[in-house]
Amino acid sequence: MFSKVLIANRGEIAVRVIRACHELGIAAVAVYSDADTRAPHVRAADEAFHIGPAPSAESYLRGQTIIDAALKSGAQAIHPGYGFLSEREWFARAVREAGLVFVGPPAEAIAAMGSKTAARQLAVAAGVPVVPGTTEPLRDEREAREVAERFGYPVLLKAAAGGGGKGMRIVRDTKTLASSLEMARREAKAAFGDDAVYVEKYIVGPRHVEIQILGDAHGTMLSLNERECSVQRRHQKMIEEAPSVAVNPELRRRMGETAVRAGRAAGYVNAGTCEFLLDAKGEFYFLEMNTRLQVEHPVTELVAGIDLVQWQLRVAAGERLPFVQNDIVPRGWAMECRITSEDPSNGFLPSTGRVRYLHLPSGPGVRWDGGIEAGNDVTLHYDPMLAKLIVWAPTRELAIARMHRALDELVIAGVETSRDFHMRVMEDDEFRRGEIEIQWLERRLPSLLAVEPPREKPRIAAIAAALLADRDRGSPRSRQEASVAAAPAAATDAWKRAGRIEAQR
Ligand code: ADP
Repeated sequence: MFSKVLIANRGEIAVRVIRACHELGIAAVAVYSDADTRAPHVRAADEAFHIGPAPSAESYLRGQTIIDAALKSGAQAIHPGYGFLSEREWFARAVREAGLVFVGPPAEAIAAMGSKTAARQLAVAAGVPVVPGTTEPLRDEREAREVAERFGYPVLLKAAAGGGGKGMRIVRDTKTLASSLEMARREAKAAFGDDAVYVEKYIVGPRHVEIQILGDAHGTMLSLNERECSVQRRHQKMIEEAPSVAVNPELRRRMGETAVRAGRAAGYVNAGTCEFLLDAKGEFYFLEMNTRLQVEHPVTELVAGIDLVQWQLRVAAGERLPFVQNDIVPRGWAMECRITSEDPSNGFLPSTGRVRYLHLPSGPGVRWDGGIEAGNDVTLHYDPMLAKLIVWAPTRELAIARMHRALDELVIAGVETSRDFHMRVMEDDEFRRGEIEIQWLERRLPSLLAVEPPREKPRIAAIAAALLADRDRGSPRSRQEASVAAAPAAATDAWKRAGRIEAQR
């Protein structure tokens, strides 16, 4: 096993990987930009290297600088997390050429699955069903029109190099085809430096169901079963769960085998994910393969009872997986909410500022994978996801109740977050019945946001208590009062506390 690993990432995922390292007795090396000198991942690590200014192009995307830091630190391996350099073939190759281990698949497998068109070709060759559409980039508008007519509107234009929902355009009729193609190309060029775009049939009302796979270098590859990620906004996941209400054991087995077949066709090793669209008839279609750890990996960890990040490290160090497929049985229900610094009541506009207060939920079945602390600044330099709140419970109903309870305990002051939005989803009848598909959230959003914001009263009470303490600052009892007021942890009974302070006068 490695004795030291560098984590080429920041935020919650860097902290997550550092935790796995420490549990395996591995020293962890962090890298950080100017904006992250006080970030939790830096303090969690055993040593840290400054790699540049805040913009990621000048820091977290600087592959060679990061490799140099790894060599200087004496690390034997680099874990890329997700995003940033995790799916760059050249980086995986450069790490290997520097004599280090890339904790992820071989560079060749990243390349094979790197573009959506290449992945579709590979899937077709391996007998994996793909969403109807083309497997080659479009040459021109005439071809786009021809293809769209062949598959029938609506169609989806997608960037071959795509990711994060960028370069994707729904085209509902022939009138908007030319302008949509133009926009998709422009967006793809700006985001990925590659304007190749292809066509898929736009499927109405499917679920997004993905399969986690895990393979070692000795030929074992397993399916760790499905995650349901249908609660999406603008093609971006917001809430994930495992298992899926739409998947029975037989479908689970078939989807798992298909994902393993796709992985094998790509020469895959380590943890990866095959994404599928699943329609109401139980037909599923391969979308793409993510050749890295996913944001939503914790829900799989909780129902499978397997620490994916530890196994990523162990497999990268050459260990054999000690499980067989029949050992992987989902147990209970897990759910994850992405806590982002976005303001749902204001069109999910990114919110920036200093985190002034943070109270984390805890108690039975609650896991917080976070990358912020009180005092940290939330900037526009990085992804707005601050943390993930994950729960486990024996049933879906209990998992929803537990998530609601945990969200209720969570207090983040200083920036707007998606917390209240998630609480409303947990209260929603359709969501509770599991009646979700990828277009559900966008359709439901207006009515979700129209609901009275949860727990406004205690918040106002907390503010009142803080103001009261502030007014009396300097008086003999002020310190005690300030400590009471500065603890919005007690937001639920802040009325009572404010009353108590008043009564002592
Ligand atoms: P990205 O890599 O940009 O995230 P994906 O191919 O993974 O793009 O798709 C992201 C999301 O967009 C999917 O989860 C799904 O909700 C939606 N989507 C993708 N392809 C289709 C399609 N052919 N029909 C309908 N929705 C789609």
